[in-house]
Order: sequence, then C-alpha cells, then structure tokens
Amino acid sequence: MADLAKPAIRPHLPAMPPHPETWLHPRPEGLHCVPGDFFIDPTRAVDRAVITHGHADHARPGHRHVLASAETLAIMRVRMGEARAGAAQQAAAPGEIVRINGVGVSLIPAGHVLGSCQVVLDYEGSRAVVSGDYKRRRDPTCAPFVPVNCDVFVTEATFGLPVFRHPDAAAEIAKLLHSMTIFPTRAHLVGAYGLGKAQRLIALLREAGYDAPIYLHGALQKLCDLYETLGVPLGDLRPATVADKDALKGAIVLAPPSAVADRWARRLDDPVVAVASGWMRVRQRAKASGVELPLVISDHADWDELLATVEDVAAPEIWVTHGAEAALLRQLSLMGRRGRALSLIGYGDEAEQE
Ligand SMILES: [Zn+2]
Ligand SMILES: [Zn+2]
Repeated sequence: MADLAKPAIRPHLPAMPPHPETWLHPRPEGLHCVPGDFFIDPTRAVDRAVITHGHADHARPGHRHVLASAETLAIMRVRMGEARAGAAQQAAAPGEIVRINGVGVSLIPAGHVLGSCQVVLDYEGSRAVVSGDYKRRRDPTCAPFVPVNCDVFVTEATFGLPVFRHPDAAAEIAKLLHSMTIFPTRAHLVGAYGLGKAQRLIALLREAGYDAPIYLHGALQKLCDLYETLGVPLGDLRPATVADKDALKGAIVLAPPSAVADRWARRLDDPVVAVASGWMRVRQRAKASGVELPLVISDHADWDELLATVEDVAAPEIWVTHGAEAALLRQLSLMGRRGRALSLIGYGDEAEQE
C-alpha cells in the first residue's frame, strides 16, 4: 500500500508546467515567446517572426527570419516583394513541429484566408494557442479552423459583440444574384478586400452557379492569380480596366472597398454599389458609405463563433489580442473562464477594410 501521507514521486515529469504568462509576453512589437525568443505577428521588423497570415496588420516587411505556412510566405512575396518578405523564409507544413530553443511551434489552419494558421506553442508541458484572425464558417478558398485543446487560447475579437451574428454567406450571395435579375443592365460593383474576401466571394459565386466572366480592378489581379496557382479555381476573370463599357453592363465588377468610394467607380455607368464585409451588419455604416447593397460576408468569427471556439478548445484561460474585448471578457467570466485583455496595438486596421 502506498503511504498516503507522502506525495507520489513522478521523476520524469516536471512538478508543474509553467503557466504561459511566465513565457509568453505582450510587448510593444507584439506577442513575444521568451524561451524561443520570437514574436508572433510583430508590428515592426524583428529578428525572428512567426506569421499567422498575409494581411498587412499581421505580416509586416523586413523581418530577418520568418516562419509561416508556404501559402502565407507566397502571399507575402506577392504583396511586398521577395526581399522584404523575410531575409530567411521557413515554411512549415500544417501540424509539423518546429523546435525553437525548447519550444515546439506548429501551424494549424485558422480558416480565415488562404494559408492562415493558428500558432500552437508547447513549452515544458504547457500549451498556448495563438489564433491570429479566424472564422468557423465554411470557406471554399482555405482549410477550415481546427480546434486545439490548450491552457491559454489567445483570440482576436474583431466582432466581439452580441450584435454581430453573421448570416449565411450563401444567402448573401443569393441577394447579389437576385439584384442582378432586377437590374439586368446595371453593372454590380462589389467592394471586397483584396486578400481573402475577393477570392471567397468569387468562389461562392461559382458555387452558386454563376459562371459568367467576373471583372477585376487591377489591384485584385495578382492575388487572384496566386490563389489559382495555389489550387483555388476562380473561373473566368477579366481585367475591368480594358473591358469595353458594354461588356460591363449587367456584369459583376470587383474592386477594393476604397476604389468603390472614389472616382474609379465613375467609369461605370450607374452601377449598383455593393460591399462585402462583416461591418455591413451596421446599417448606418453601409448607408454612410453610399452602399446600396450591403453584403454581410465576414472572414472573422462572429459572437457565436467566438464563444463556440472557447468551448471547443477547452482552455481555462482566454487572452484577447484586439477588437471588442470588454463584452467578451464579461461573457467569459460568466462561462467560468479567466479572461485577459492584451490590448495589442497595431492590429485591425486591415480588418476595418475586411
Ligand atoms: Zn486578417
Ligand atoms: Zn487582423
């Protein structure tokens, strides 16, 4: 019989795994893994960076060493050029474990845009997962989010308010197609962010059976080409700038949201102006920007997805990087989770456009 007064001796396990707050610190440059001495999505150039995805607020130029998915590295090269995408670039396959000074680092799909990954960090029996941006909805252009159990889950909260409940994306696409039957001679000018949203919109249109040419603003061309190169078929895409005016009548024209608002739009004769964004949930916002047809299509988790994900990863503690954190922290405490606002600066600029 064991002596109950004496604690059992388990010589091969450390007494207590170190809490992630002892080895993962918010810094002005971003989240710093102390033993590995690397930053996740640093907002300024650093020696060693792990990048979750290619959006400009997460993937910055000029790092000496970059670890990311192969797709994210390809996106960075297209957006910022080979030289600025990282002096040394290391691609990790999904689930592959890269050891950095005793820290196991692996990249697991986040379902946000092509190549987007969560960063799973294992250190002396303790695990933190940094989500980057993510969503849980189906997206034909990228691998779906995979929940990973952890001690601390570090989440975004772009849409961290109960008012944000994104509708089904297919229903929003149906609205667009319906509008085209009502206004068959007007071009439908759709504002969509250039990385992720534009390609998802095209793929959803193709899934809905729309196989006519889709016309692109020049700023969207390179990333659409890259998506196709990386195995995401987008169908017949044509440059809007060289198309003759009649061809654009009754057609879908995709442009970055900024171009929709400016003079670029005036090339088109009386277009129906649409914008695809999670922010289109806010009616005043759509109205103020002159959007006739708001399409609520988001690449970020909505309120329900945030809460479902907290349950799925079974983490007792949740850190919130950026976004609407107050309501989420309150809800987390009701769910018996410890919440912590990191209030990292420099993220979300691109999400505003998303
Ligand atoms: Zn993003
Ligand atoms: Zn972001």
